[in-house]
Amino acid sequence: MSSFTVAALEAVADTIVQNKELLTSLDAAIGDADHGINMARGFEAVRVKIRAAAPGTDISGLLKLTGMTLISTVGGASGPLYGTAFMRAAAAAQGKATLDPDGITQIWSAALQGIKDRGKASRGEKTMLDAMEPAYEAFVEAVKAEKSLVESLDAACEAAKEGIEYTKTIIATKGRASYLGERSLGHQDPGATSSYLMLAALTEFCRS
Ligand code: ADP
Ligand code: MG
Ligand code: MG
Repeated sequence: MSSFTVAALEAVADTIVQNKELLTSLDAAIGDADHGINMARGFEAVRVKIRAAAPGTDISGLLKLTGMTLISTVGGASGPLYGTAFMRAAAAAQGKATLDPDGITQIWSAALQGIKDRGKASRGEKTMLDAMEPAYEAFVEAVKAEKSLVESLDAACEAAKEGIEYTKTIIATKGRASYLGERSLGHQDPGATSSYLMLAALTEFCRS
């Protein structure tokens, strides 16, 4: 499970690095054009750290290493937010040697709450939460309906994608994009997009 977790985190890191330009150009429209740069810097560091982690580092330890690395390297609003999400995920993963859908639900719930606590935002403010929260809810619903892990993740991805579309229709009231007021309309949120990309990478990883 430890090498599985490393590989899953690597898949997430790879996707962020590959989408650096996209995330930066989205942030250029409604922010300060650095979301991709920030996130790629952070996940490049994560890749190095998790590969160098002691063999046998458990799921919780790897998530914690990821969170600490993001907090110390990403900068910007997204660093502490995603960093806190991974730190809370690590705490929720403590003692778990394997991950089943219920375990993933607990970990995801803790991560989501971490973002809310840290950013004091809620859904509808044009942030990463507009992708992350509906995705989480779709996952929970699918698990309850006894869908497989991959089916449940697919449902979550679909909801995250809808969440990205939704961010185009609302005005930002948190983060830098809020300075634009109505001019933030029509643009998709960079953080919602990075959330979707991470989730999609995790889903593809679990499918393979
Ligand atoms: P910065 O805005 O400091 O340059 P980034 O560009 O890396 O940081 O990240 C911007 C993203 O952070 C936004 O697209 C949004 O999704 C997210 N964000 C900003 N503020 C908050 C908040 N209070 N709560 C949740 N997400 C937020
Ligand atoms: Mg920015
Ligand atoms: Mg910035």
